[in-house]
Amino acid sequence: MAVRRSADNELRYGIDAHSGELRAVKDVPNGKACDCKCPGCGRSLVACHPENIKPYFRHYVGSDTDGNSECTNPKGARETIIHLLTKAVLLKLTSFYLPEKLVGVGEYRGHLIKDFEVQPSEEWMVTNGREEDRSIHSRFVPDVIFDTPKGPLIIEVLYSHKVDDGKRLLLSELGFYAVELDVSKLHPDEVGLTPITQRLYDPRYCTWISYPLSRHDQANLEAWRVNETKRIDELAFQEQKEKERQECQQKAIEQSRLELIEQAKILKERRRRQQKAEDRAALQDDYKEIIKRYFKSAGAIYDLKPIGASEQNNIKVALRVLCSELDNAFPDGAPLDLGQRLRNEVKRQVKERKAFIKNTRLESAASLYIFENMDQEFAELVALDWRGDTIEVPGRSNDGVAYLNQKIPEKIKKFLQGHVDQLGLVKARSDNWPYKTLNRTPL
Ligand SMILES: [Zn+2]
Repeated sequence: MAVRRSADNELRYGIDAHSGELRAVKDVPNGKACDCKCPGCGRSLVACHPENIKPYFRHYVGSDTDGNSECTNPKGARETIIHLLTKAVLLKLTSFYLPEKLVGVGEYRGHLIKDFEVQPSEEWMVTNGREEDRSIHSRFVPDVIFDTPKGPLIIEVLYSHKVDDGKRLLLSELGFYAVELDVSKLHPDEVGLTPITQRLYDPRYCTWISYPLSRHDQANLEAWRVNETKRIDELAFQEQKEKERQECQQKAIEQSRLELIEQAKILKERRRRQQKAEDRAALQDDYKEIIKRYFKSAGAIYDLKPIGASEQNNIKVALRVLCSELDNAFPDGAPLDLGQRLRNEVKRQVKERKAFIKNTRLESAASLYIFENMDQEFAELVALDWRGDTIEVPGRSNDGVAYLNQKIPEKIKKFLQGHVDQLGLVKARSDNWPYKTLNRTPL
């Protein structure tokens, strides 16, 4: 006995050898008496009704088949069975559930117009169903055609090939309502009336391939188009407004950014000027200190004018009186040379006072000099890139320092010479100058 293949098990329909109609294996006599042919390869079939297993057809093994029980066209067999079953189901219908019909309207101002729903998903009454009616058109034989109150409705059965564009166009031109019913990809166990019938009520398996628009439909479509363009105009207007608003906002942000930059610049410039002014004030302080120092050193060769003869005399008299008063107060005192000690003390006091007064006058002379010369001299020093008394820049010719060290001291010497009388100074002489101290004060 030949080994049966799984494909044989799935064959549950055959073609009646006499009528050409589809027969289910469960409805035919057992064995060769079924009198059926394979829908795929046309070979004779044997009906098998084993106990506890679903009945099936197998291919008859005769002398002309070389003992081969396999079908040479199992795919074709399956397609023919499903096609015939579907048509049989359809022809018994009195109504048909049709999917919604949407019509694309295209674009307007770059916006896709929403599809127009010509009709919602709805049930149509169908009558006078017939298959492969060749009277419709010479180039086209529909799988099934019905009459409906709206006009003829064609149903094409999709198993492996979709209706092509040429056929769609032809159907539209002929003004037929037509849908495609998808019965492809059925599981082998689903090949039967029930699963095919279920697909009739599932909108996913039915699509329009031709929908002639009535005048009423066309008027509705036009109204839809007008409404949609209005909607899109409004949308575009809002979008433009929003765009302008955003541009405006962007500009304001940019403007405030530029203002901040400008403010930062102004602030920086203000700080720079302030710093410069501070630097300048510090430099001027340096200049003043240097001038005062020069005055001190230039004043070394001067001394205060001696005090007058009457003042000297008064001091001498006062010393004599003081000595005599001390002798009276302590008549038996030790033989100390009080006179000498008092003279020394007076000398020291005179020296200190003279130094203090001379210093004060030199300082006021320096202030006068600064008052008269600073503007010009400081400007010249700055022009010479002078950076102050304490700053030495390596590798840079310090013209400012040279100017300070040579030109200004010369000027100060002359200035002092010209002001000695006014300052009450005289050129100092040797130590034995009679007016320098009170050495010769007779006590
Ligand atoms: Zn076959």
